[in-house]
Amino acid sequence: MPTNGKRVCVIGAGTAGLCALKNSLQQGMDAVAYEQCSEIGGTWVYTKPGQNDVHSSMYEGLRTNLPKEVMGYPDYAYPKDIEQSFVPSAEVLRFLQSYAQHFKLSDYIKLQHEIIRVRPLNGKWEIYIRDIKNDKFTKEIFDYVFVCNGHYSRPLMPDIAGIDDYKGKKLHSHWYRKPDTFEGTTVLVIGAGPSGMDITHHISKFAKHIYLSHNLDPAPCTDFMQNVTQKTVVQHFTEDGAVFKDGSTATFDHIIFCTGYKYTFPFLSIDVLLRVDDNFVHPLYKHCINIHYPTMALIGLPFYVCPSQSFDLQVRFALAFFSKKREFPSREEMFADLEKDMERRRKKGLTNRQAHAMGDKQVSLRCA
Ligand code: FAD
Repeated sequence: MPTNGKRVCVIGAGTAGLCALKNSLQQGMDAVAYEQCSEIGGTWVYTKPGQNDVHSSMYEGLRTNLPKEVMGYPDYAYPKDIEQSFVPSAEVLRFLQSYAQHFKLSDYIKLQHEIIRVRPLNGKWEIYIRDIKNDKFTKEIFDYVFVCNGHYSRPLMPDIAGIDDYKGKKLHSHWYRKPDTFEGTTVLVIGAGPSGMDITHHISKFAKHIYLSHNLDPAPCTDFMQNVTQKTVVQHFTEDGAVFKDGSTATFDHIIFCTGYKYTFPFLSIDVLLRVDDNFVHPLYKHCINIHYPTMALIGLPFYVCPSQSFDLQVRFALAFFSKKREFPSREEMFADLEKDMERRRKKGLTNRQAHAMGDKQVSLRCA
């Protein structure tokens, strides 16, 4: 493919990375995606129980919580012949593989290549890459970087009193794989977000009893099986159970922490000048462009979005600047824009944790 000579490094080949690669190539960039795993797909690659240091948090039996009708890219939809809207995870992986095949991306993806360090150097990016299979390290220079490393991999563990006293088994949802592991046991699930709710449904078919502890008010209105009891948040753990905020107690064999994930960028050197404060990544222009180094874009931070649509929009937004079709606003204007957005969020009572939450904003942007 003829290129304009501008080198683009894409970190990761999941939903975001594939989209960044495809759009960069289409815009004439000399782009390459590095993927640490042995296949593309990121989140949607299921890894068997017991494997160490895996990227994906995918578990057996997961169906999407968004309909496939909104999970495609703007220029590549799910096949029409799939009848169900909420498809199994393997269908999403197949979709991503067919996207890569359709846009002929495979020649531009280096599997089993881990990005280990990214640092700015004389207006460009110096990037260190580990070829995992051959255990070789190389250094390359790029003009632009798309950071697409995903944000559902590094477990966020809450700091709850007495957790070290608890002698039963503990697991974060990142490591959860199969419901039958919990056959005949009593389980405490902490957190009633999408993972907590879904995992509770899955294991309730096998477990003796499940306590679902959360701080949602009103409590989730869903048809759980009779062996599920909703609880308030844990006040402190004991050796074999917990005391909850409402004073009630329970004993259990396992805890599953469905308490979310941390945004981390272990490969970005300190002079990239990005900070992460309780999942608020800053300073970024429009949740995406590194204000200190606008030749770097982070794709996929916003949540409560239709991911593929949002990633594609972010990538094309960044490429409009990278390809000089649009001029970046001044540094001051970008900082002012960020401050305005954060001020609006703080006024609504939102914390750093919700800095990249879109939700209703996504809809209003689309309708605007
Ligand atoms: P990922 O899919 O995580 O891909 C990131 C890629 O980067 C990975 O392949 C990883 O190996 C690679 N990588 C990371 N670091 C490096 C490095 N240093 N060097 C090289 N490669 C690297 N979304 C939906 O739309 N619908 C759903 O129903 C849905 N269900 C979900 C269920 C679960 C359990 C989880 C965890 C997430 C779910 N999501 C769902 C969100 C989903 O993760 C996103 O939709 C989307 O797949 C994220 O894509 P991504 O490319 O940003 O990240």
